Amino acid sequence: MNPDANRVPRLRFAPSPTGIPHIGNLHTALFCWALARALGGDFILRIEDTDQARNTPEAIQQMLAALAWLGIDWDEGPDVGGDYGPYVQSQRLERHLAVAKALLASGHAYYGDDPQHPAGANNQPLRLRMPRHGAIILHDALRGPIRFDSSHRPGREDPILLRSDGRPLYHLAAMTDDHDMGITHVVRGEEWISSTPIHIRLYQAMGWPQPVWVHLPLILNKRGEKLSKRDPEGGYLISDFQAAGYLPAALWNYLLLMGWSPDGEQEIIDKWTVRQQFRLARLSASPAVFDWDKLNWVNRQYMQRLDDEQLTGLLAPFLEEAYGTLPANTAWLRQLTALLRTELVRLADAVDLAEWAFVDTFDYVAEAQAALASPPAGIILPHLIAELAQTVLLDAATAGSILAGLRHRLGQPHGWNQRALFWPIRAALTGRVKGPPLADIMGLLGKQRCMARLAAAFQLTRQD
Ligand code: GLU
Repeated sequence: MNPDANRVPRLRFAPSPTGIPHIGNLHTALFCWALARALGGDFILRIEDTDQARNTPEAIQQMLAALAWLGIDWDEGPDVGGDYGPYVQSQRLERHLAVAKALLASGHAYYGDDPQHPAGANNQPLRLRMPRHGAIILHDALRGPIRFDSSHRPGREDPILLRSDGRPLYHLAAMTDDHDMGITHVVRGEEWISSTPIHIRLYQAMGWPQPVWVHLPLILNKRGEKLSKRDPEGGYLISDFQAAGYLPAALWNYLLLMGWSPDGEQEIIDKWTVRQQFRLARLSASPAVFDWDKLNWVNRQYMQRLDDEQLTGLLAPFLEEAYGTLPANTAWLRQLTALLRTELVRLADAVDLAEWAFVDTFDYVAEAQAALASPPAGIILPHLIAELAQTVLLDAATAGSILAGLRHRLGQPHGWNQRALFWPIRAALTGRVKGPPLADIMGLLGKQRCMARLAAAFQLTRQD
């Protein structure tokens, strides 16, 4: 039985701040957080900065910001403090050294490279004495018992706790911190399984009760490969997801589905569902596959739930970055959003979809060029220009009746179908042949911009 069964569960995410957080880090963080919340326990953030050469202060900030963006909150951590601080590993050096000393005194650690003939402390690494017989069993909560035969330890080299310059290494620092912080469940990626015998040995040598070990499966791309920075299927840094305009709640939701299944067919979940249903028993130990189509679907679900005003607020920074300062008229922007929303998968898609609304001179796609070169175009465009010239204010309703009039007066007598009639107009106004309803586009552009675009496109029609 777990000796800690009566303690409040305490789970930690312990990133090494060595670069921009990627989806693998965040998936681990999220699962750890979800388990903490479902168990009614504490979630602790600890920064593991023992590898001084590779750490940067920006990376710590980026990690905190990424977690917060994703909707992960922590009860204790470097920024919020807590009863078990400090929460930055390098500031806990004294304790690491004290544990090293205790292990040396009890004979569980020795200086030098030879367990039979320990050296003096001078310029020698301190090593943990690993057993040479029997086996160490890791009881992984997802995978069951995993046996490590002690007589087959690779190289039979004992792991280093303190470097020869006296600095603690990861194994010593992290396990000391886990114990001192009262961590009950160590949740981390499966790449740590092979180190766990060292960790178990350390716990045993110190007489500490072991935590529950949970090693989460890897995330793979659709080809079954580990995710990498240059993955052909897409970027997996948190900044890539932000730049593409995935909603944090959607990414949160999708990441949770990678390795956990809630009850029934439910796929859109909330924090309440996580609290109620996130159980170790429901987690999978097999690798999760990152499925962009599924993420896009989830993102659309979340996007559809936003009203026009909320969505406008989220699209604005993307549009502003692409097209400069936005019109002060927020009603105009809201109308634009309403037109775009059905086609949006990610927020950044709006940049391309809304190009016609911001840019007055554009290239015409091949189909648009063909529509403008078709015989009806040379007749329709001047007609429409003449109609528009007579309007005072062009809104979508007025545009709708003008278009209906054109269909009646030109389309029917000439036998032109919708496409023959309206593609040239759409091509002239947007450079494309697909998009939101034409009357809405005209209403948003207004009289002057429509007339200018129709006149420019008229040059491209055949006037024979
Ligand atoms: N600092 C380690 C990492 O970044 C954490 C390992 C652990 O959770 O024990 O992967």
